[in-house]
Amino acid sequence: MVFIRFDESKPPELILDDAQGLSLTVADPILGRTLNMQPDLVVLASAVIPNENKALFDLFKVPINAEGFLVEAHSKLRPVDFSSEGIFMAGLAHYPKSLDESIAQAQAAVSRAMTILSKEAIWVGGVVATVDASRCAVCLTCVRACPYGVPHIREEGHAVIEPAECHGCGVCASECPGKAITLQHFTDRQIIAKTDALFCECATA
Ligand code: SF4
Ligand code: SF4
Repeated sequence: MVFIRFDESKPPELILDDAQGLSLTVADPILGRTLNMQPDLVVLASAVIPNENKALFDLFKVPINAEGFLVEAHSKLRPVDFSSEGIFMAGLAHYPKSLDESIAQAQAAVSRAMTILSKEAIWVGGVVATVDASRCAVCLTCVRACPYGVPHIREEGHAVIEPAECHGCGVCASECPGKAITLQHFTDRQIIAKTDALFCECATA
């Protein structure tokens, strides 16, 4: 499939000549040349407009781009994953694409889902945030700041972070005004000790 861009001030010209048939002329701004083609058929494709289902996107905490299409975690390394673990995508909600590409992406999404569903238990990392309930002022800062929507405040009366859901990004720990949140393995003491060790003038033998 070949896409040719055109300048909106110079739209393509299509001429039907009884003797020579269809003739399509378009000025390609990238090549800086005017291209002429004799197509057998001209098919007008309507635009693919994203369905911006904000309630659903908010529910799953999945991001969209400026055009309203869903954004994958990484275009090369995680093309069917979202940054929220365990949620995958395929099809036109991602960007306008052919049916073949949608099917290939759906197969990839199923494969990724099977890597989770085929296991009886999943191990998660130990770098997770924990809350010191006695210092929590229930200010909701962590609830608003967490990019994955993990912290919640319910009947417990203080913020709660479910370790299995936490991605260990540390945003809540840095934002908490009461210093009630600690990122395991990255406590203040550990960070200060590492910094001191980095800049200490160690005697060399
Ligand atoms: S940001 Fe800190 S003080 Fe505020 S609700 Fe969260 S844990 Fe509690
Ligand atoms: S460490 Fe990151 S993912 Fe975990 S609760 Fe805090 S902000 Fe959310």
